[in-house]
Amino acid sequence: MPSLLTMPSPPTRQARAIERAYFVSDLHLHGGDPGLVERARAFVAQARADGADALFLLGDVFRALLGARSLRAPGLAPFLDELRLCVASGMRVVATEGNHDFMLEQALFEATGVESPGDQVDVSLGGRRARLLHGDAFCTLDADYHRLHAILRSGLGRWLIRTIPPSIMMLLALGLIRLAERRTSEKDPVIMDIVDEAVQAHLEGGVDVVVCGHVHRARDAQLGSTGRLVVLADFESTGSHAVYADGELTLVPQDARFAPPAPVCVTIDGPAGSGKSAVARALAQRLGFSMLDSGALYRAVTACALSRGVPLDPVGLGALVDGLAIEFSGAGRVAVDGFLVPEHVLRGEAVTAHVSQVSSVPAVRAALLPVQRGLARGRPGIVAEGRDMGTVVFPDAAHRFFLQADPEVRARRRLAQNAGEGADLATVHAALMARDERDSGREVSPLRAAPGAEVVETSDLTLEQVVDRLEASIRAGSAPAVEPGVA
Ligand code: C5P
Repeated sequence: MPSLLTMPSPPTRQARAIERAYFVSDLHLHGGDPGLVERARAFVAQARADGADALFLLGDVFRALLGARSLRAPGLAPFLDELRLCVASGMRVVATEGNHDFMLEQALFEATGVESPGDQVDVSLGGRRARLLHGDAFCTLDADYHRLHAILRSGLGRWLIRTIPPSIMMLLALGLIRLAERRTSEKDPVIMDIVDEAVQAHLEGGVDVVVCGHVHRARDAQLGSTGRLVVLADFESTGSHAVYADGELTLVPQDARFAPPAPVCVTIDGPAGSGKSAVARALAQRLGFSMLDSGALYRAVTACALSRGVPLDPVGLGALVDGLAIEFSGAGRVAVDGFLVPEHVLRGEAVTAHVSQVSSVPAVRAALLPVQRGLARGRPGIVAEGRDMGTVVFPDAAHRFFLQADPEVRARRRLAQNAGEGADLATVHAALMARDERDSGREVSPLRAAPGAEVVETSDLTLEQVVDRLEASIRAGSAPAVEPGVA
């Protein structure tokens, strides 16, 4: 059997004039996400139903770090079947290589009949020459990325990917994905963007239009006097694509028909010690949602301000949060300027004593708003707990709850939580009351039950009973059924 390196390319179907074509990139399909596979299948089916004579898949169609083996995932079958139907119907279907699926080589052609020309393909759109490719080659400032890909895409890299046992390759692939994600989050977005001069070089070589993806941001720009660059956003999170019809190439930056459903949002607000954190964590686990501990963000800013000696007033804190990078790490821990804030500092006495003062500053709240909303994006659902989740951060949440409990019960719970720190009930009670008063009495985003929120009195309930009640309410849809989504 000839090696894939020496195998001749499959014959390119006789080129005929393209009258109607669809273009898409960055679907990042894998067998473990049936919702995404279904949206991609629906998109391809739409191209077929629309009578398209060509479909161009411009890279990163699959997360195929295991090469040809990745295509065998049963979850991908509906999409692959749809591609086969398109090819069988006479549609020209072409897939150029992306940085996530270049290891597929000819495997997609063998599985479906889709043309796999390699890096790029040139086609004529109404007499104008269009160059179609993934687009990573245009991000010429990203030297690290190009070094890594030069190694992976070399003959040796490809041979290793084909021959390493799947279990070892899976570990390597996961490591590479993590590394890439970490590097991407650390890099200046400018470095990862398309460099227009790199596109210009293609346009000066007799190409009229360049269509690509890769950077996940839609763009339709004129370059030079007559050239055009069309960049598709990632289909995975936007449903973006482009259509050529009636002599016009039109970029669709996002399309709700193919975009992921908005995350289901559950908010839990309440005073300190009402059980929000434990309930939110357990509920998120049951529902398979992510959890937002918004208090941890305010605590992280407070810890940062205390450690840097910043005055805890609007001027000092405003200057601090301006440009401060606050984010959740994968494990739900908070990182400030790239450093994880230790748990004992985050929950420690000094931070707890000052956090209400810090959280009452509007600039702090404004800086943390996008961090909180960002956590919901791209997830099936989120359980968000805090003081203003249902009123300010996620006012359109599908399910809103407000937990309350007798002050003494709350103080006892807090004391049990902080056992070993030597505090007595009266002190914990007083500190809790003072914090509640400040959180409820402040002008911006005071602690309040959101309109229509289901109020749950937890004093006489166990954690399990509270979680059961919230879960039942969500599943029955009895909490306010506002359209799910984030504002
Ligand atoms: O929930 P936790 O006790 O960690 O919250 C710490 C503090 O952060 C609260 O007392 C409050 O001042 C502030 N906070 C807030 N808004 C939120 C969550 C917490 O102001 N959504």
